[in-house]
Amino acid sequence: MKVNFVDLKRQYETIKDDIDSAFDRVRSSFKFVLGDEGKALEDEFAKFCGTRYAIGVGTGTAALHLLLLASGIKPGDEVIVPANTYIATALAASYAGAKVVLVDVDKDTYNIDPEKFKNAITKKTKAVIPVHLYGQPADMDIIMRIAKENGLRVIEDACQAHGAKYKGQKVGAFGDAAAFSFYPGKNLGAYGDGGIVTTDDPKIAENVRMLRNYGEKEKYHHELKGFNERLDELQAAIIRAKLKHLSRWNESRRKVAELYNKLLESIVTIPKVLEGVEHAYHLYVIRSKDREGLQKFLMEKGVYTGIHYPIPIHLQKAYADLGQKRGMFPVSEAYADQILSLPMFAELTEKEIRYVCECVKEFEAK
Ligand SMILES: *Cc1c(COP(=O)(O)O)cnc(C)c1O
Repeated sequence: MKVNFVDLKRQYETIKDDIDSAFDRVRSSFKFVLGDEGKALEDEFAKFCGTRYAIGVGTGTAALHLLLLASGIKPGDEVIVPANTYIATALAASYAGAKVVLVDVDKDTYNIDPEKFKNAITKKTKAVIPVHLYGQPADMDIIMRIAKENGLRVIEDACQAHGAKYKGQKVGAFGDAAAFSFYPGKNLGAYGDGGIVTTDDPKIAENVRMLRNYGEKEKYHHELKGFNERLDELQAAIIRAKLKHLSRWNESRRKVAELYNKLLESIVTIPKVLEGVEHAYHLYVIRSKDREGLQKFLMEKGVYTGIHYPIPIHLQKAYADLGQKRGMFPVSEAYADQILSLPMFAELTEKEIRYVCECVKEFEAK
């Protein structure tokens, strides 16, 4: 038996007509950039998240970068970022010229540790980027309170958490603004790169609109040194087709996680979910004492897995300039050697889930 880590072909087969008609609409419109599909998606996605605005951009990384600029982050400002995240979270702050200040993650949820976040705040701190890692919302009540007390901007990195809920409210509507990625493997994935920002703030929205399109407000009138970071029409049309199914897919992911939990809880460390949270399970991450051995064993059994992420930000060569050595972020460092992401997508069958769990059990019993 072979179990893929994600299977976009299987997803396509369930919504073939919607996707094919999205391709057809864009092809026959001959409008490929900043057209009706993008506009419609922005309305639909803002409504989905419960925000006033959504603005399509080129990638999730661009969403974070442009949001930091639009929120007034300047070179020399400090931006707080969790040490266990995809490197794009930190890179966006670096692109804005900010100093990346890393904070360790909570030992249960893998999300930024609110107490350590509070302790990392200095006079230069201007923003925090809580990441809803693996699809689980960060503890937004506490984070928002600390941010408010210290006058910080909050940019949610929701790139892994489309549709996840915290106390009944979808992510993307908690901070000053939020960034989402439409990278193909995300819960809501395009057929190429894409991203979107959400916000209730009209100034941030207007700024991102300009920044994504060379800084122009009116054609050939450039108010800012902007970028070419637009979401193209084809990706927008595909995301529109998929957005209709997202809540159902996330529900299926939770069902997959439930069965994994039941079959694995006595064998390995399973994910812990915060009270009042609806996890979107972009990734289903377990911990094992012999992660390398387990991953190799699963590969031999035809089970594809991933590691998110094997190297915390401060130990990446790209961030050697931070001068932070091993030992500074003990939770992130320890987990980097133990975490393993099991196959996770909405169309996984019960048979496949049971097979994966039997293989994990067989290895861990050795
Ligand atoms: C995917 C991802 C990003 C970057 O999104 P891209 O669309 O690949 O640029 C940023 N942060 C997190 C947590 C991600 O998972």
